Order: sequence, then C-alpha cells, then structure tokens
Amino acid sequence: MFHDWLRMLVKLENIDDSTRNAICPECGERSIKFVYVGDRKSSIGYLPVWCESCNKGIQISRVEIPQGVRMIDFKDLENIEKEIPNFIHVAPDSKKNR
Ligand SMILES: [Zn+2]
Repeated sequence: MFHDWLRMLVKLENIDDSTRNAICPECGERSIKFVYVGDRKSSIGYLPVWCESCNKGIQISRVEIPQGVRMIDFKDLENIEKEIPNFIHVAPDSKKNR
C-alpha cells in the first residue's frame, strides 16, 4: 500500500497543486490532501499527504519545495496543527497488505 501512495505522489507532482484527481490507495475516494511544510529560505521541508476520507497517509521527509506552491513555515505550529490532521501513517513495509 505504501508503494501505491508513492505512485500516486508522482502523479501529484505532475499536476502541481491540484489533488482533484488523486485517488486514495486505501479507500478509493478522491479526498487526497497535501501541504508542504518547511523553510522558505532553503526550500527544504517535508510533505505530508493524507486522505480526508479514511484519515490515512504518508509523510515524505526532506523534500525540495517547488517555487510558488502553498506551504506552511516550520515554525508556524498553529497552522500546521490546523491544516494537518493527526492521520494514520501507512508504514513503508507493512507486509500484511501484500
Ligand atoms: Zn482514503
């Protein structure tokens, strides 16, 4: 399942901000959300991707944040808390899903 998320992420990158067509690998709903969190100067951060329907997702660490995308500053804890739910992280090697 983790690989399905990664595969979906590659598609997300191509369509930029738009998550309209991203389908959740877990539940099949089109409710994928993501937001970059990081440092504006270095443009390095992390990228949580989650599904609003089933509350599952993954977090990619150490990503380069593209120019012009919406992002939350590392230090902006209030907005981080507000925007990113406490979703269930899909483990990279959960063998039971195979
Ligand atoms: Zn889902």
